[in-house]
Amino acid sequence: MYNKNSLKAEEFINHEEILDTLAYADKNKDNLELIDSIIEKAKLRKGLSHREASVLLACENPQKITEIYDLAEQIKKDFYGNRIVIFAPLYLSNYCVNGCVYCPYHLKNKHIARKKLTQEEVKKEVIALQDMGHKRLAIEAGEDPQMNPIEYILECINTIYSIKHKNGAIRRVNVNIAATTVENYRKLKDAGIGTYILFQETYHKQSYEALHPTGPKHNYAYHTEAMDRAMEGGIDDVGLGVLFGLELYRYEFAGLLMHAEHLEAVHGVGPHTISVPRLKRADDIDPDTFDNGISDEIFAKLCALIRISVPYTGMIISTRESKEVREKVIRLGVSQISGASKTSVGGYCEPEPEDENSEQFDVSDKRTLDEVVRWLMQMDYIPSFCTACYREGRTGDRFMSLCKSGQIQNCCHPNALMTLKEYLMDYASKETKAIGEELIKAELNNIPKEKVRQICADHLEKIENGIRDFRF
Ligand code: SAM
Repeated sequence: MYNKNSLKAEEFINHEEILDTLAYADKNKDNLELIDSIIEKAKLRKGLSHREASVLLACENPQKITEIYDLAEQIKKDFYGNRIVIFAPLYLSNYCVNGCVYCPYHLKNKHIARKKLTQEEVKKEVIALQDMGHKRLAIEAGEDPQMNPIEYILECINTIYSIKHKNGAIRRVNVNIAATTVENYRKLKDAGIGTYILFQETYHKQSYEALHPTGPKHNYAYHTEAMDRAMEGGIDDVGLGVLFGLELYRYEFAGLLMHAEHLEAVHGVGPHTISVPRLKRADDIDPDTFDNGISDEIFAKLCALIRISVPYTGMIISTRESKEVREKVIRLGVSQISGASKTSVGGYCEPEPEDENSEQFDVSDKRTLDEVVRWLMQMDYIPSFCTACYREGRTGDRFMSLCKSGQIQNCCHPNALMTLKEYLMDYASKETKAIGEELIKAELNNIPKEKVRQICADHLEKIENGIRDFRF
């Protein structure tokens, strides 16, 4: 039975409800009156239900799709301005006891090089990331209670935050590790993490069980209820995502929105972010052997629909996607991107020898951080290295209420400019710096409140003169 308030996975992600939703969407995919009313509702910027959004996803009318894209673009501008937050993944260990059939970390893979960073190696990786200019990381690890226990993850977080190399610092560590206990989530919260991210992979229980045949991850309910335990453990910023390509995208889309509705209904706060990874080629994984791959067009449509369905939820796109695809979907609603990512364990310090591959998947966008920053600015986006929200306690419902009232613009815009200025001073190439300085000058004038503009200008000048009393 469908019940978004239930704490049971099979009730808040109810299979029958998803099937009914898809049937309803099919029936109404040419119902222009209904489609127009849903688009009108989306314009109120209060989001859409999974049923409404599924009708728009089923709709193939080109004019309506253009209207959806235009609205997504406008909503993105209204809530996130032209800022794009930048981060990098840091792979700590690829030891894993699970049997996920799409992931090269699976236990039966004897071919992949197994690696786990020591604290000394974590330090070296973090210095390499700081030297590029990164301030925000997402740590990643396989699930292995012996090799990667929670104590190891906590020790790594501690090490990461402790390293201050030149002007560098990692100011926010987001965590993408396997579903765990309330007690462990509490420990992660106490360690000062930003967002806890866990991809559902697929919401389809039967497929989920087939795709995760062995290991603790096989347990659908334990995995699907993880965000509720994370919230019980005090983590109020959680990040959802499905791995597109594993199941039918329309099923996943409905499930994803039902999950967001459930979190909002039970905890009073929806997901902080939604990631949209697509299945990629990897060590012993061939994406062509999976039947549910989606085209770039469908991918863009999904991004636009997520944007208008959950306007207050950030959207993340990784280097799994090419420069061209990223360019298209950033416009439609993405608010965070990774840059210069390595998916190998220890890959930032030095490249792996050819015969020693520990990568989780092939990255498509292989550009340097300097190139990514420059490219964003050339498209008039402000690359932001800001981590202020969580440092100032603006998380969970406090962040959401600021966002809903449009207030987030008043602090995010100047913070983005100041962190960009730091980046330009410390790490940028000459060409990137020149473009960035012009952009900052122009964007400073776009701060409406004179007082805020003045404070921002003062800080920018201080940063220019090497004074860093500002740390966001
Ligand atoms: N072990 C943790 C877990 O169970 O969630 C951490 C996640 S893993 C390091 C990060 C994510 O990479 C997975 O959740 C999965 O969605 C994604 N992934 C795995 N194999 C992939 C592939 N071949 N292509 C693209 N993404 C993949």
